[in-house]
Amino acid sequence: MQVTVLGSSGSYPAPGRPSSGFLIAAGSTRVWCDAGSGTFSALGLHLSPDEVTAVVLSHRHVDHCVDVLAAFHAWAYRPEPRRGVPLVAPASVIDALVSFLGAGTDHPFFDVFTPRPVEGGDRETIGGLEVAFFETDHSVPTVASRWCDGARTLAYSADTGPAGDWMEVAADADLFLCEATYQTDAAADYPHHLRAAEAGRIAREVGARRLMLTHVPPHLDPARSVEEAEATFGREVALAVPRTTHKV
Ligand SMILES: [Zn+2]
Repeated sequence: MQVTVLGSSGSYPAPGRPSSGFLIAAGSTRVWCDAGSGTFSALGLHLSPDEVTAVVLSHRHVDHCVDVLAAFHAWAYRPEPRRGVPLVAPASVIDALVSFLGAGTDHPFFDVFTPRPVEGGDRETIGGLEVAFFETDHSVPTVASRWCDGARTLAYSADTGPAGDWMEVAADADLFLCEATYQTDAAADYPHHLRAAEAGRIAREVGARRLMLTHVPPHLDPARSVEEAEATFGREVALAVPRTTHKV
């Protein structure tokens, strides 16, 4: 299994840094996980978007889902539209996208995508990947995910505060892709995101083998986020940099 970073910018995109999105690949399976702004065009740097096996979305905040609308336009409005792309996401994400389009049940959105609503506790088989979903500590229904190809395990925190059963999500993960929206001196007025130091602490407690930070917003120095996470993880920490690919 390998993961390619399409975008990792927290909350909003910046030049050359799309919002959250990853391409998770194992064998012939290619999953576009989270579809923040800029990630659909970023897909094209690595493969034909037509090769995407399925789309998985963690939640309905625009920096994680809005480029599904770009994909819809690309796949619907051409001579030979794509059909039946699995769209695995909490029901509230699917509802928000459909509502934006004003789509009734006969809308082409439902030709291009086949919605597969999920919530915490659900499992899905996507090609050669087994994916387990867990509800996170966020302000809207959000799922973290644990991906296994039979040999290696990738955990993705999605957006979350510190509460929750982290052992379920990330125990012994070969690679833990964890959000780090804040640094140590951030005002603690919004509890549903993590500080970099919390990401490091959680990764150590669950025995993750490697930690990669994502969702660092453009106004923070990511090198400092990495330093703060390394102090609590006790080991080297990576940063999710767009256009890089990592073996899980
Ligand atoms: Zn969010």
